[in-house]
Amino acid sequence: MSNDEGDKKPATRVVTGGRRRALTGLVVNPPVWRASTHLYDTVADLEAGWGKNADGNFFYGRRGGPTQWSLAEALTELEPGAHGTLLYPSGVAAISCALLAVLKPGDVLLMTDNAYDPSRSFAEGFLKNWGVETRYYDPLAGADIAALFCDRTRAILMESPGSLTFEVSDIPAICAAAKAHKGKREIVTLLDNTWATPLFFTALDKGVDITILAATKYVVGHSDVMAGSVTSTKRHWHALRIAAQMLGQVLSPDDAYLAARGLRTMAVRLKAHQAAALDIALWLQDRPEVTSVLHPALPSCPGHDIWKRDFTGSSGLFAFVLKGDWEQARRFVDALDLFGIGYSWGGFESLAVPKSPEEYRSATRWDCDGIVIRLQIGLEDVEDLKADLERGFAAI
Ligand SMILES: *Cc1c(COP(=O)(O)O)cnc(C)c1O
Repeated sequence: MSNDEGDKKPATRVVTGGRRRALTGLVVNPPVWRASTHLYDTVADLEAGWGKNADGNFFYGRRGGPTQWSLAEALTELEPGAHGTLLYPSGVAAISCALLAVLKPGDVLLMTDNAYDPSRSFAEGFLKNWGVETRYYDPLAGADIAALFCDRTRAILMESPGSLTFEVSDIPAICAAAKAHKGKREIVTLLDNTWATPLFFTALDKGVDITILAATKYVVGHSDVMAGSVTSTKRHWHALRIAAQMLGQVLSPDDAYLAARGLRTMAVRLKAHQAAALDIALWLQDRPEVTSVLHPALPSCPGHDIWKRDFTGSSGLFAFVLKGDWEQARRFVDALDLFGIGYSWGGFESLAVPKSPEEYRSATRWDCDGIVIRLQIGLEDVEDLKADLERGFAAI
């Protein structure tokens, strides 16, 4: 699980990563290696097997096999400073299991107020019942987050930009504040990096301890597999690995195969998503029906300067505020033909959903003049997508 490909450019690493010959053989794609049981010749071999339940040794199917290890290694190679990557059957599983690996009852978790709503639900449902208290912070807090630290603060869950309202956080400042805190226990920083992926934001070299992807989105890229990943430094690796094993987290080899196939084209797909999304965001900015466009690459986006400093690109998900009420938003979205109405994102197809971000806030207020429409810009022709949006505007 070493990270020795660091000298190659990221676009090269998505192609070459995880393709060690000893792991995947001589074919380009790692074969789908399906197994639960490992057979031993003798009981003595079986006994020796216990000692072999180490990374990269097949012991039992729950720890995965070569197909999953290949994908995990490829993701590790995209994060400078990473020790290893664990795979999960969904992004939500990756987030919950990473939190369970670092928290214990009595701890306080700090969570960004613009977090993905199922992350909030996990905190308010499971974690609360388990005795962990979650406090929410302003995504624009930066180093000021230190004012919220107490003796019980154990972890910070960040997401930047937030995947609904797109404010960009000062991740290096938040991580530096966490490291500088001299409490009873160290504060562990976790980042949901699904929007940028390691191609547009490398997390560990900016101070993050544990970086998480809903691989369902850009890694898979084709809207046909659920998957999640957690990549960490050596310091947190053991706790994450043990928690994943105890909680029975495994990604199937078939899904790992598809995710690895998606990963090979992630750099070119992201480039296309980036260009089309920016083009459409700028076009929307000039529409009379639009109050504002929420896109980290636009100067009007809160945290835009931080995005410029820390990120190497912007992906295909952003939102805009449509003037009017929910009924008009409904008419707008219903009139779209190329944009599907649905959750998730990161696939090749465009999607649109109306959202009410104020429902998912507690530390800050979300106030806007209109309804937030979140767009996932797919790989269709940009002019066709604009014509589709025109249809939506005409319908209101
Ligand atoms: C979709 C998403 C997740 C969860 O991933 P699933 O694979 O759907 O469970 C987590 N974080 C963000 C930002 C997401 O968009």
